[in-house]
Amino acid sequence: MNPLIRHRIMSSIQSKHTIPEINVRSALHRAGYRFRLHRADLPGSPDIVLPKHRTVVLVHGCFWHRHRGCDIPKIPSRNRKYWLRKFARNVRRDARNKADVRKLGWETFVIWECQAREPEALARRIRLLGKRLSLPSGCSRVVCSRNHREAS
Ligand SMILES: [Zn+2]
Repeated sequence: MNPLIRHRIMSSIQSKHTIPEINVRSALHRAGYRFRLHRADLPGSPDIVLPKHRTVVLVHGCFWHRHRGCDIPKIPSRNRKYWLRKFARNVRRDARNKADVRKLGWETFVIWECQAREPEALARRIRLLGKRLSLPSGCSRVVCSRNHREAS
C-alpha cells in the first residue's frame, strides 16, 4: 500500500478510537446507555449517538477543538498563524455541526478529552448528561448553557 494512503487510513482509525472516546463509551455503557457509533447520516458523523434520547455525545480533543480554560491546548510557537487559522476553522466547523444537528431535532452534549481522561471528572459529566436527559425537552437548553459555563 502507498505509504501516504496507509498513513491517512491509520490516522482516521486512530481519530475514531481514541482513549478518551473509549473511556466515554465504557462509562456510558456502565451507566446503562445504549449508543451507536459514528452515525454518518448526522452532520459531522458524531462519535457517539444515543438514539433513544436523540442526543449526540461529542468527545472533543482539547487541542484540536480548543477547550477554553484547559491546560492542554497550547498553541505551537512555530507557524503560529497557520495554527490559529486551522483552529479557527475547527471551532467554526464544530459550531456549524452542532447547529445542524440541533436543526434535525437532536441535542448535543460535549465531553472534553481532559474530562474523559480523568475518571471522576468523567463520572460527573455522565451524571450531568443523565440529569439533562431526564428533563423535559424544553428545559434542556437552560441546563446546557449553565453546563457550558461549568465546562469552560
Ligand atoms: Zn480540556
